[in-house]
Amino acid sequence: MIRRRIETRGRGERASSPAFPRWCTGLAAGLALCVAADAAEPLRLEEVAEGVHVYTGPHEEATSRNLGAVGNAGVVIGTRSVAVIDTGGSPAFGRRLRASIESLTDLPIAYVVSTHAHPDHVFGNAAFDGGGAVFAGHRKLGRALAVRAPFYLDAFERLVGADFEGARIVAPAVEVSGETRIDLGDRVLVLAAYPTAHTDNDLTVLDLRTGTLFAGDLVFVDRLPVVDGSLKGWLDVIQALRRVPAARVVPGHGPASAPWPDALDAQERYLRALLRDVRREVAAGGRIDTAISRAAPEERGRWIGFDRDHPRNVTASFTELEWE
Ligand SMILES: [Zn+2]
Repeated sequence: MIRRRIETRGRGERASSPAFPRWCTGLAAGLALCVAADAAEPLRLEEVAEGVHVYTGPHEEATSRNLGAVGNAGVVIGTRSVAVIDTGGSPAFGRRLRASIESLTDLPIAYVVSTHAHPDHVFGNAAFDGGGAVFAGHRKLGRALAVRAPFYLDAFERLVGADFEGARIVAPAVEVSGETRIDLGDRVLVLAAYPTAHTDNDLTVLDLRTGTLFAGDLVFVDRLPVVDGSLKGWLDVIQALRRVPAARVVPGHGPASAPWPDALDAQERYLRALLRDVRREVAAGGRIDTAISRAAPEERGRWIGFDRDHPRNVTASFTELEWE
């Protein structure tokens, strides 16, 4: 039995499973085949700009082998302190990330920023708690974690196994509405909260010194975007993101660094095709199951995870557009 503690600001409630991303509900049947990772093994971080280091998550489902860390994680080092942006999917991964940071610098970790509440981005947070770091996120992050914690903890405990020991939700102490700036010493990070898009608690981090934008899952590259907030909202947010004066982006899923704003193009093309075709199906009085086969078929083959996540995106979008 894995012991864990849940810290939340409000009253937690268990949400029904259809509200959760499909990749969370498709539990791996072959867990026994997975080999537990060596916790002492250092992570490979890539320096994508001066003082900006990124762990690139694999395009896989969460397993004991990848420690649930299937999204990207970032580290930014100032002259006084360090910020971590997303911490992977388990305390074991968080500890490895922390060890890697300690091999890069002796400076203290002052901030742990979560780009949103999805489990592959937040369950390493416990490894940084108690060391003096301040936890930050969107003003709706705490509530999202509280509402979804029971499901996420159960799902990732099954997927990740023993290395999920100690997993818990850490409530953010800094809640961002609009913009908040943090200074790591000669290095200012701009934390920006967005309206509902990928989720209802998406936050980006812009390193002003190098123009590196940590977009969280507001930007997917190569892997199919997952709509867990609002399709129309996300398309609006993409237009706002295009105005961010960045030199490069660290997407939530995809390469450690991608050109900006070009990295938005493929994602916008897919989401627009989804909007166009699902809207047409709704207007024609169609059903979700037929919409799944008819919406954006030209996008199959262009994305990793299309067959797994596209049906869910159609379902979520159909429900959203039915009420237009
Ligand atoms: Zn996500």
